[in-house]
Amino acid sequence: MGDELWVGAGLGGFALLLFLLEHCFPLRRPKRPLAGRLLVNLGFAGLAFVTVLLSVRPAAVAMLGWTERSGFGLLPLPVVPDAVRPVLAFLLLDLSFYWWHRANHRLALLWRFHSVHHIDPDLDVSTALRFHCVELAFSSAFRVVQIGLIAPSPWAYAAYELIFQTNTLFHHSNTRLPIRAERLLNRVLVTPRMHGIHHSQVRAETSANYASVFPWWDRLHRTLRLNIPQSAIEIGIPAYTRKQDNHPWHALVMPFRRQRRYWQREDGTAPRRDATVAGEDVRRLAA
Ligand SMILES: [Zn+2]
Repeated sequence: MGDELWVGAGLGGFALLLFLLEHCFPLRRPKRPLAGRLLVNLGFAGLAFVTVLLSVRPAAVAMLGWTERSGFGLLPLPVVPDAVRPVLAFLLLDLSFYWWHRANHRLALLWRFHSVHHIDPDLDVSTALRFHCVELAFSSAFRVVQIGLIAPSPWAYAAYELIFQTNTLFHHSNTRLPIRAERLLNRVLVTPRMHGIHHSQVRAETSANYASVFPWWDRLHRTLRLNIPQSAIEIGIPAYTRKQDNHPWHALVMPFRRQRRYWQREDGTAPRRDATVAGEDVRRLAA
């Protein structure tokens, strides 16, 4: 338990550092007042935390114990050398999370809840905490399958979780890094500009950059899109840009209501990207 407190404190400190950095060096210009968004995002964070404690974590712990006792799963297979197991665990956990994130966009039921994360009209470190509790409850079932099939050691799983949470805070933040530094970092990590494109109101751009830690999965699945300058990105979902859509209660019950045509504005038009704005090479991170 002591270790968990240290990890929690470390993540909290890192979130606070990003919060300061994104206000000193903002990447995109915010559209809405911060206080209102913080209220919603921290409210979601509270419910999310309870859901993780009651559902996601117990499911993960139970599966880690079960795979250890039963020897079931991919990594314990004798053909996998001992030294390779932790590395492979890291890669497979991250790859499977890429698929889970894609499923959250693809399957209508999952998207109802994941879209609450995308409706945030601005993107910053607080968006990293804004996940609907039902999305997290669903993810418990994903954890059961993920851990059951991969069977990482509890140590490898904990290490991956820590890196995953840290990078989720980082790639949602609105921190402006020097473009050359970010291009370099983006070879091995999902970075704020890369994930910013995933939160664009242009549908084709939201359907890109699903990766969480390693950007390689988007390259592999041809869903990588880095050529959109951040100044040209409008954050959010076109049909949910009214002020009241970001009211805490409205956002919480939105998945249970009749859904609007997500990718159309109220006037019936859909946001499109002017071809002259995008860079030519989708693999080159635009400023
Ligand atoms: Zn998403």
